[in-house]
Amino acid sequence: MEIETQSPEETQKVAEELGRRLKPGEVVLLFGELGAGKTTFVQGLARGLGVSEDYYIQSPTFALINEYPGRIPLFHIDLYRLEPEDVYDLGLEELASQGILVIEWSERLPFSLGKEIRVHLKILSPERRKIIIEEEK
Ligand code: ADP
Ligand code: MG
Repeated sequence: MEIETQSPEETQKVAEELGRRLKPGEVVLLFGELGAGKTTFVQGLARGLGVSEDYYIQSPTFALINEYPGRIPLFHIDLYRLEPEDVYDLGLEELASQGILVIEWSERLPFSLGKEIRVHLKILSPERRKIIIEEEK
């Protein structure tokens, strides 16, 4: 599916709807340049998964992986600064078996994991984004 949003809140709503229907073992791969709205999308996704509003969700650039308790545990990963060989050391397969993975800079993921839901975010203007969601059948 394809949708255009006009604000960060609208992008979060789209993500929240996806978050509500995610099932264990599903992996959400985010694609899009810096500032496209990947982290904004994760914030909405977390709400849909029932992660408490008390958590402020930011890119896990230093921690590499952030975990949030929700209806299903959410693991938030940002591969921006990693080399493919480092990605092998993160233990993503193990995490994927424990909850939902959402990955920023999925271009850098050198292998596949679980049932993939691919989300492409494109900047149309400072406030408008095109969001394309592709789900494996
Ligand atoms: P990324 O993680 O892809 O680098 P962020 O989510 O951190 O991107 O940042 C996106 C920026 O764009 C935020 O400052 C956000 O407020 C802004 N923004 C403006 N319009 C939108 C929109 N329609 N959807 C998502 N973010 C938007
Ligand atoms: Mg980000």
